[in-house]
Amino acid sequence: MLIVKTIEELQTAKKMLSGSIGFIPTMGALHHGHLSLIRKAREENEHLIVSIFVNPTQFLEGEDLEAYPRKDEADIKICELAKVDILFMPTSAVMYEEDELCIGAPAVRGYVLEGAKRPGHFDGMLQVVMKLLNVSGATHAYFGKKDAQQLALITQMTKNYFMDVHIIPCEIVRDDRGLALSSRNVYLKEDERERALCLSRALKKATKMVMSGELSVEKITKMMSEELRDADEVEYIAIVNREFQALETVEIGNTIILVAAWVGKPRLIDNLWI
Ligand code: AMP
Repeated sequence: MLIVKTIEELQTAKKMLSGSIGFIPTMGALHHGHLSLIRKAREENEHLIVSIFVNPTQFLEGEDLEAYPRKDEADIKICELAKVDILFMPTSAVMYEEDELCIGAPAVRGYVLEGAKRPGHFDGMLQVVMKLLNVSGATHAYFGKKDAQQLALITQMTKNYFMDVHIIPCEIVRDDRGLALSSRNVYLKEDERERALCLSRALKKATKMVMSGELSVEKITKMMSEELRDADEVEYIAIVNREFQALETVEIGNTIILVAAWVGKPRLIDNLWI
């Protein structure tokens, strides 16, 4: 595995590659969620590039940029074992100039739910993903459904900017009790880890309600807010279509149920596609 830290090194390494390039951008502290993306990309492409970069422009003032878990050594080993060809680990100085041209998230889809709670987050996320897709030369880029709105906005960006890359959605990976894996789960203390299960439990119960014929968004949301009592603070429960527009009635095959809540130190998100 080649580890590269500069744009020039990556561009030189990329020139040697012919055929499909699978790419997975990450912020590191890799877990089985990331690994599932890496494995899928390994199977589906001739070459595999992973990036690890904790992108400052997608963190808001007061968020956990400094405290974000960093595990470079372990991450390098994981990537080696997963047969990554090139691991790109740039610094902020490599990625950004002082006064940059910026990308703005779309006014509607980019400013509901996560975009409303974290204004500016998606602008920074799209900015770095655009850079990483360009410099990696990815033909196929893999993103988790865990960050559902992020996935939708990246798909839209590649379409709006006529970018020649396939965006591949990947299923959410959970631990054996249902908690969606996240690098931020390391912040959870033991009792909080227990309480954090209320997110996936609420989503599971919502599916059961839908499967038994209950399609009323109001009723499902009410059940979920009761189920989420174990969280310290619920930021939103949302039932939307795949365009992130609010629904009154669940549309089978076109609905995403999303939740964001604080449990102890971390802010957790989870969702379910129906
Ligand atoms: P991050 O390092 O958190 O920025 O995540 C990098 C990529 O991994 C994103 O596309 C995430 O959606 C994806 N990802 C993170 N957690 C999971 C998970 N539990 N299951 C599937 N994909 C995930």
